[in-house]
Amino acid sequence: MSTMKFSDLGLSEPVLRALADCGYTTPTPIQEAAIPIVNEGHDLIACAQTGTGKTAAFMLPVIDDIATRGSNPGDDPLALVLTPTRELALQIEENVRAYGKHVGTRSCVILGGVSSGPQINALRRGVDVVIATPGRLIDLLEQGEVNLGDVDFLILDEADRMLDLGFVHDVRWISDQVPRPRQTLLFSATMSPAVRSLASTVQTDAQSVSVAPPATVADNIDQQVMFVKKEHKPDLLVDLLQVDATERALVFTGTKMAATLVARHLEQAGIKAEAIHSNKSQSQRQRALDKFTEGKARVLVATDIVARGIDVDDITHVINYELPHDAENYVHRIGRTARAGKAGVAVSLCCVEDVSNLRGVESLVKQPLRVVDDHRWHSETVAACLVASGRAARQRARAGRGRGSGSKWAR
Ligand code: AMP
Repeated sequence: MSTMKFSDLGLSEPVLRALADCGYTTPTPIQEAAIPIVNEGHDLIACAQTGTGKTAAFMLPVIDDIATRGSNPGDDPLALVLTPTRELALQIEENVRAYGKHVGTRSCVILGGVSSGPQINALRRGVDVVIATPGRLIDLLEQGEVNLGDVDFLILDEADRMLDLGFVHDVRWISDQVPRPRQTLLFSATMSPAVRSLASTVQTDAQSVSVAPPATVADNIDQQVMFVKKEHKPDLLVDLLQVDATERALVFTGTKMAATLVARHLEQAGIKAEAIHSNKSQSQRQRALDKFTEGKARVLVATDIVARGIDVDDITHVINYELPHDAENYVHRIGRTARAGKAGVAVSLCCVEDVSNLRGVESLVKQPLRVVDDHRWHSETVAACLVASGRAARQRARAGRGRGSGSKWAR
């Protein structure tokens, strides 16, 4: 177990304060390895998966550098993060806001599928960090709405997925728009020859780091799923928490708002619950956590962003009130129970909106979750929706195989 502290990594005071606000106590291995390399001004090629703390590994030194060198002299971005998906872009922006809150880092996301007006306005107001998916960024570059001339940090996140999604030419083209000298940080869950080839053209003398993938699911966790209509989730949750065996439960929601509402609903049902999320002050969070640890609150409702900092023993149940977008987060969430060889239960409440996330989780953990349907809110409609989406996925896979095998060898 490492004893390194964030302050040992040379980060400035406002950034350290933001990390404390997030409830982070110690850097993760990828942060320990990557931050000094970036601080020394090198290019970095990092093999790390989601869930390892990789976002902070590249964002902290960048935010710190922007903060300590004084404010951005102009309004054009100093850092550009390219990501394969909208979800990832939004998640990174949430992190930038959290880590940069005391230094006033200005960030914006550039993504397709939504109107470009607000994105253009945000760029015109001035930004320090742009987080973008390649397609829309190219559109805005071509329209002259983005100037990458001041960018000192180019970050390619989940490079392998960008290549899988066919963005290789876009990524190279965008990289060519960022003047050298610059620092290029490339993160990827896997290091295929294609990733290395991309790295060799966009980077110079990169130093490499690699960390083990996050833990897999322990065998002693009973992973259950309950199908339920969205509007019945609050009632089902109350039922689950009223069972005596649910001694200490950690409930995960997808948003801060949901965490607050769920905790309020439980209190109204006479169940002592506390909510923690990144809008609460460090002292509020500590108080909530203390109540939970001391058993004064049987339930803690949390969002993923703060959950990594929670280290509480004897959690009997982890309840996913909403399934996470990112399947890796599922593994982190449920890893809070069944510690020290004890058995634990993880229950996921799945409504129609959760079905695709459930499929993601099941493919990551390589097993279907155990369906529990002997509860009064069971929904056959949701169960049928999962079956239907499975059929569609299989059809897509079959169609994809047909096309894929042809083009793969033709190239
Ligand atoms: P990532 O791999 O960047 O997706 O991060 C996974 C999760 O870990 C996110 O919820 C982060 O907020 C959280 N996290 C990142 N760094 C730390 C840290 N040093 N301590 C606790 N949690 C962290």
